[in-house]
Amino acid sequence: MDLDPHKIYMRMALRQAQAAFDEGEVPTGCAIIRISPDKPSGMGTLIGSAHNQVELLKDPTAHAEIIAITQASNAIGDWRLTDTVLYVTKEPCPMCAGAIVSQGFQSWSLAWPIRNAVAQARFSTLRTIPVATTGARSCKAS
Ligand SMILES: [Zn+2]
Repeated sequence: MDLDPHKIYMRMALRQAQAAFDEGEVPTGCAIIRISPDKPSGMGTLIGSAHNQVELLKDPTAHAEIIAITQASNAIGDWRLTDTVLYVTKEPCPMCAGAIVSQGFQSWSLAWPIRNAVAQARFSTLRTIPVATTGARSCKAS
C-alpha cells in the first residue's frame, strides 16, 4: 500500500470525479487538505471534497473546485486557505483558476499537465511540489 500523502489525496479527488461521472456531470473531483504541522510530512485533514454538480444544482458555478473551496472556508472559518493543499483531477477552468489563485493555497496538485493558456498564466506564480500520481503535475504557491 502506497502511503504517499499526495497520492492518497489525489485518489480522494479521483473518487469524487468518478461520482460526478456516475451522476452524468463533467467528471471533475477536488479535495482540499489542511496541512498539520504535528503530522508527518504532507499529511493533513480533509476540509473540502466535492465533484461537479452543475446539472444537479442547475448552477453554472457549481464546479468541484468552487464547492470544495466553500466547504474548506466554512470548515476553518476563514476565506484564506493558507496551510492547505488543493487536489483537482483536471485543468481548472478560468473561473476556478482565479478562485484557486486568490485563496492563498499553500500548494495545489493537478492530475494532468495544464494545457489551457489562461490557466498556465494564472498558475505561473505557483511552485511545484512532488508529483501526486503517475502523469500528475503539482504546483506550490510561491
Ligand atoms: Zn471550474
